[in-house]
Amino acid sequence: MTAATRLRPSDADLAALRAEVRAFLRTELAAGRFEPVSDSWMTGFDGDFSARVAAQGWIGMTMPTEYGGHGRSPIERFVVTEEMLAHGAPVAAHWISDRQMAPGILANGTEVQKARYLPAIAAGERFFAIGMSEPDAGSDLAGVRTRAVPHDDGSWTITGTKVWTTGAHLADAMVLLARTDGGPDDRQRGLSQFVVDLPHPDIEIRPLRSIDGAEHFNEVKFHDARVGADALLGVRGQGWAQVMGELAFERSGPERYLSTMPLLRAWADLLRTTGATPEQRKTLGMLTARAWALRRMSLAVAHELDAGGRPDVLAAMVKDVGSTFEGDLVEAVRTSSGTVAARGGHDPFARLLAASVLHTPAFTLRGGTNEILRGIVARGMGLR
Ligand SMILES: Cc1cc2nc3c(=O)[nH]c(=O)nc-3n(C[C@H](O)[C@H](O)[C@H](O)COP(=O)(O)OP(=O)(O)OC[C@H]3O[C@@H](n4cnc5c(N)ncnc54)[C@H](O)[C@@H]3O)c2cc1C
Repeated sequence: MTAATRLRPSDADLAALRAEVRAFLRTELAAGRFEPVSDSWMTGFDGDFSARVAAQGWIGMTMPTEYGGHGRSPIERFVVTEEMLAHGAPVAAHWISDRQMAPGILANGTEVQKARYLPAIAAGERFFAIGMSEPDAGSDLAGVRTRAVPHDDGSWTITGTKVWTTGAHLADAMVLLARTDGGPDDRQRGLSQFVVDLPHPDIEIRPLRSIDGAEHFNEVKFHDARVGADALLGVRGQGWAQVMGELAFERSGPERYLSTMPLLRAWADLLRTTGATPEQRKTLGMLTARAWALRRMSLAVAHELDAGGRPDVLAAMVKDVGSTFEGDLVEAVRTSSGTVAARGGHDPFARLLAASVLHTPAFTLRGGTNEILRGIVARGMGLR
């Protein structure tokens, strides 16, 4: 179903959907099935929760029904993701698959790949990792050195190392960017994408411990790993263009300003009970105003996606401003709340604050650093 043929949801439809999602989350919370955390889309990995979200029809929402999706609009998906994030729900298991792998496979995959992966993504049964960054290719993604060499039967041997690969130790598959043709000087030319099923006997996945002691991301080594001809995603040599399309989805969502919203909500709830000083009220008001402005910007991205556009520049701008806001929010609550952050204590607010502080350094790095995003914005404005 295209943007042109799909019926636009009315404001009443969107409000009804929002009420449904909130009721679902209230039930989950009341049953003690999750504790709200900041950054839940990155670290709240809970396959059972994802299966229950899928059962509501809230994964693969914008995918066509013939592939197990629900043929709904990006704005409806925005409503669901916004509520999940604001409640700090454990959505990490399906986040990457739903956000960028499903659209990527839909746009570039063969019918066999679509049938193999898309219904399982929509059912909340198949989770993906992103295999872009390497030890010497982060911001400079065109510098990837992982190499895929073809064999006569069409299969490939992949050799190289990826790093920062979120959730690879728990994922069922990874979409990988590798060089298939030319050398490092060819830069964006000669890159291709692959869908690689995990685990694989010749792919070593080593979790990297982050500052909070948890293992969210990994180093992934391909020791001459053989994959079938059917692993190539899209067109050989067109990996750069495909990855740019994928990054547009990766950068465009409300998770780029809502990661720490559970902390703001929890603080507002606390102040409602304990009473707020004028200074605290002012801080709360300023943070809320910034969040609201970001929401308008993020919605503009969703509307442009809904209209079939590719809002790369606007998305880069929202991610730059949004991820800066996420960190500012944590710092403002930390300094204004009077609570001492404590990771292991009995106070849920102190725990939430501690986790938010420890996650802050990642906000402006992942998905492209703010310096890189500003470069995209500058080029989009025609600056050199
Ligand atoms: C929590 C987290 C999860 C991640 N998950 C994934 C994942 O699942 N899959 C994946 O592929 N990657 C993932 N990444 C990697 C992420 O995309 C990279 O960290 C990011 O692109 C930066 O690359 P780098 O770390 O190599 O830093 P570098 O590229 O080495 O950059 C170092 C510094 O130099 C600056 N810099 C670099 N080039 C320029 C330039 N041209 N102009 C101005 N400044 C510049 C950068 O802004 C940065 O401050 C994750 C990162 C984090 C923090």
